[in-house]
Amino acid sequence: MALLDDSSTPHARLPVRPEHAGFAPYGAPQLDVPILLNVNENPYPPDDDVVRSVAADVADAVRGLNRYPDRDFLPLRSDLADFLARESGVRLVPEQLWAANGSNEIMLHVMQAFGGPGRAALSFAPTYSMYPEYARDTATRWLTIPRRDDFSLDVDAAVEAIETSAPAVVLIASPNNPTGTAMTLEGIARIAEAAARVTVRDPDGTAAGCGVVVVDEAYGEFRRTGTPSALELLGAHPNLAVSRTMSKAFALAGARVGYLAASVDLVDALRVVRLPYHLSGVTQAVARAALRHADVLLAQVDELRARRDETVAWLRRQTRAGVPLDVVESDANFVLFGRFDDRAEIWQGLLDRGVLIRVVGPDGYLRVSIGTAEEMTVFRSALVEVAGL
Ligand SMILES: *Cc1c(COP(=O)(O)O)cnc(C)c1O
Repeated sequence: MALLDDSSTPHARLPVRPEHAGFAPYGAPQLDVPILLNVNENPYPPDDDVVRSVAADVADAVRGLNRYPDRDFLPLRSDLADFLARESGVRLVPEQLWAANGSNEIMLHVMQAFGGPGRAALSFAPTYSMYPEYARDTATRWLTIPRRDDFSLDVDAAVEAIETSAPAVVLIASPNNPTGTAMTLEGIARIAEAAARVTVRDPDGTAAGCGVVVVDEAYGEFRRTGTPSALELLGAHPNLAVSRTMSKAFALAGARVGYLAASVDLVDALRVVRLPYHLSGVTQAVARAALRHADVLLAQVDELRARRDETVAWLRRQTRAGVPLDVVESDANFVLFGRFDDRAEIWQGLLDRGVLIRVVGPDGYLRVSIGTAEEMTVFRSALVEVAGL
């Protein structure tokens, strides 16, 4: 048997597209440490009853794996519509729902459907670091305007930017990652109206249509009482979409299920660009079984929200060399705090004590995801030690 050792293979200069040259695959470090508070996962694994029930449905799905899965998966889309009606009081028809392998794939579908050469996508920095990658990968021009100092979104500036740059896609993470800040419905409605008024043009000048606005509610279930969901605006805005995920509140990051709610026309445009059978029969079975157990899977959300508020309050009481920490309001399951001249050293000090958080966001800030009570106790004492609070 010939042993193939790649180091002896000659190198070819591959025709990598210029916009990808020099890029490494993106992703947060995946390190083997006891306390993982770096990628906003739900710290509680599914309980044994849910595991058994999901496993039984997966076994049924496996029996049918000789066949391609249901390409349009209307049963899952119908379950998602029922879930959203319960969660937010907004009743949608199954054809208004779409699902994919994580909301990251949903975003890619949006950019493939509406972005592309000669078109722009607009967002509000700092925000989710994956968005510019989808713009790059679909040859869509990436535009950002800054958020205010408190990371809220300046709606007047957003409307002006939409009017001047006529983006095909406007991406708003709300609650935003990495800051945790959520938008008001009035603000989202004004942005959707501004996008509806602009004309996106093809390279030959033909009017293609108006701009599309996607509100990424990956952390929607963690919003504070009184913070509404943009789902309420869907009826009045056919150019608006709301994306959600089962990765965070649902404690199902490993299953890779994200979904989007919008007008039927908008969803139909996404159906054009999806790969055939993109959602495997196993994924569909897991998602449907998980939705059946939504109440159990989401049971810890209230506890996590309360612990998030406690973490914000605790961090706000801390001072470093007499200066209070800067802690951002959060409607999500993480908190952004700072500012540290030496954030990389603080991150490393926590890691040395078995706690992995994330270096992300504006200079000087760190982001911690909300874990179990025990995990947060370890985090707090490690931070006091490392940062000298
Ligand atoms: C975590 C996260 C997602 C979720 O991605 P999945 O692909 O569904 O796991 C989407 N948007 C934002 C802003 C996130 O932080």
